[in-house]
Amino acid sequence: MQIQCNDNLVSDRQTFVTHLECALEGSRAEADTIQTLSPAGRPYWVKYDIAAIKAHLDRDALDARPQDMWRYREMLPVRNRSNIVSLGEAETPLVALTNMAAKLGVDGQNLIVKDEGRLPTGSFKARGLVMAISMAKELGVKQVAMPTNGNAGAALAAYATRAGLEAIVLCPDNTPEINVREIAAQGARVYRVNGLIDECGKLVGQGCREQGWFDLSTLKEPYRIEGKKTMGLELAQQMGWQVPDVIFYPTGGGTGLIGMWKGFNELKQLGFISGKLPKMVAVQSTGCAPIVRAFEAGERHATRWENAETVASGIRVPGAVGDFMILDAVRESGGFATAVPDADILSATDEAVQTDGFLMCPEGGATLAAYKAALASGQIDKGERAVLFNCATGLKYPMPEAPLTLDKHANIDFSTL
Ligand SMILES: *Cc1c(COP(=O)(O)O)cnc(C)c1O
Repeated sequence: MQIQCNDNLVSDRQTFVTHLECALEGSRAEADTIQTLSPAGRPYWVKYDIAAIKAHLDRDALDARPQDMWRYREMLPVRNRSNIVSLGEAETPLVALTNMAAKLGVDGQNLIVKDEGRLPTGSFKARGLVMAISMAKELGVKQVAMPTNGNAGAALAAYATRAGLEAIVLCPDNTPEINVREIAAQGARVYRVNGLIDECGKLVGQGCREQGWFDLSTLKEPYRIEGKKTMGLELAQQMGWQVPDVIFYPTGGGTGLIGMWKGFNELKQLGFISGKLPKMVAVQSTGCAPIVRAFEAGERHATRWENAETVASGIRVPGAVGDFMILDAVRESGGFATAVPDADILSATDEAVQTDGFLMCPEGGATLAAYKAALASGQIDKGERAVLFNCATGLKYPMPEAPLTLDKHANIDFSTL
């Protein structure tokens, strides 16, 4: 039996981190002190001694471990296991959309959803934030802050509370109500700001300079990527050390896409997987598609998307610090970036639940809409095994009305129910 009480995650040697390296220009930094962005103002990669991991770890050892993200501990940054602030980050299932696949004339095993809504706080933000908070605790941070469109703030609040850290969260004032409330309920001080997420981010930056808060914004500290990387490690392992042909990822700040691509490359260096890596597809909404615009223009950096608006609030990110990391991964993988209109996002979300009983979040719906569009346009074909990421539980989002009532005193004609 495995119980999540923060300190029984048994390990011999915890990590093989060597140093940090600026993702843009390669400058190095020490790993065991507090780090934010590189001197070039860009994110750091966390680097490992791959040869030492290889000598210490093999696929059989990984297969024998409990099925949660900490089984990859040698490939993760936490040095001391007592700093791991777990709420039970269990392996998330792969669910084939078999009825939908049949409708599209696709083999059921070629249309698979990785359901990240099963994680603590109901979204894959848990993977990144459990890592960032565990590292903040390890490095002696006391106060953390971040801007959020909802789910990241919720994960931050839960893990910060568990670690005994103070958390300040700023969100756009049109963030879904349930997200604002869950953040507050889980113990963070949350403020609604009359601006978009990058504007909230600027205020967080100011608070960090003036108050000494630690900035946990997407990619502004090195460790959230490492948490999100476990999506790629886990996907390869649960597919029997194989990878799919193509991955559809709803892209906001892009941590997950960047992290998975890093993870696949590390698995390849370790010899745990071989052959072609998946094509990475960055999915955005036509209401906020800076990465798609830069991809199509052949640029390495994206310009800010003005008046960003989409029902998929998790991907309403007008400008990303890691833009070049997303675009590099998409291009290296032979994938592409694509935008889908909100109307298609909503209809795909409805179709998934009506066809397969799978309640997706709108961002997950965006990947399904993009999959269907890519199939129709010939960007991918039916024979390719595709994995879509449903990043949050659909239960956090507005649902269709259910207006029917029954009067217990009336004569009920059950044949009409
Ligand atoms: C944050 C979020 C995304 C975007 O993830 P990134 O890795 O930051 O690009 C997508 N969907 C949901 C539900 C999210 O909360």
